Amino acid sequence: MKAAILEQINAPLTVGEVGLTDLKAGQVLVKILVSGICGSQLQEIAGNKGNAKFLPHLMGHEGCGIVEDIGEGITRVKKGDKVVMHWRKGEGLEADFPSYIFKGKTIKSGKVTTFSEYSIVSENRITSVPQDTPNELCALLGCSLSTALGTINNEARVKPGESVMIVGAGGLGVNLIKAAKIAGASPIISVDIHEHKREPTLALGADLYINAAVENIAEVLQKELNIKNVQSIVDTSGAKQSLEATIPLLTGGGRYILVGQPKPGETIELKNAYHLFDGEGKTIKATQGGGFLPSVDIPKYLKLYKSGALNIEGVITHHVTLDEINDAIDLVRKGLAGRILIDISS
Ligand SMILES: [Zn+2]
Repeated sequence: MKAAILEQINAPLTVGEVGLTDLKAGQVLVKILVSGICGSQLQEIAGNKGNAKFLPHLMGHEGCGIVEDIGEGITRVKKGDKVVMHWRKGEGLEADFPSYIFKGKTIKSGKVTTFSEYSIVSENRITSVPQDTPNELCALLGCSLSTALGTINNEARVKPGESVMIVGAGGLGVNLIKAAKIAGASPIISVDIHEHKREPTLALGADLYINAAVENIAEVLQKELNIKNVQSIVDTSGAKQSLEATIPLLTGGGRYILVGQPKPGETIELKNAYHLFDGEGKTIKATQGGGFLPSVDIPKYLKLYKSGALNIEGVITHHVTLDEINDAIDLVRKGLAGRILIDISS
């Protein structure tokens, strides 16, 4: 089968032939329909996830697929099921790391991967959904959409009428704007560094877009909304400059949530950090996937989708094939995309 493999740190992925191995207890073979590309994979390519010692390895952690075969002990899914593939642990067995054959050698890989035609995954990294679940929605529920909803609701605890700023309008940022809208946030401020993101983020539901490459965020907030501070800020960039500029904009008692990871070894400076004690005191918190619990949250979000309260319109900006993956990763790296989906089979 075809797969995109990380062979070297800071190098393009190799799209090549990979062999499958027999399923072990707790493992499921999934035929992948669609996969998302997450910022987290950029971190892996840069070797920032402690993964350099496991090369070569398969990639991807957000997908939608069909169960092709099951190993011993599997009770939560059956052949033919449509499943969300997620990196957060759900219910079911936690299996060993799967093995694949690449260039004649056995390689190990993560317990869920999605940049390939088939994947061997642990039962607890997939959740069955109804067959009529759209493939795109099914994939986004694996990471970006679920992380966004969890971040806004569980971590930032946004209440209707509260102001929210989303820093970064990439694959996660666009989902966060949707999630903030569903939570009734107002106003929703989107910040990025590209002018071409203005129209799409406003169309997604942001009330104001600030191009931080050319505009001063504090000045625009004052001028356009007559506010100095924001009640919740979610940063998806992890960039030093962005964190230093936006943490001081948090209101007293506000919640600042880091979803994007700063580079290992990076120092963030806060001028006059005394402001952290404003009001009831400010919270700065790093989140792991918004506290997303696949077995609980996926059925809940599907209901929300069916009710019409949740839609994914405008979130997906590009569809690519597995052969085009390196170009797609470049778009994510340059901040030029919303969510990109890889169409693998149908
Ligand atoms: Zn992700």
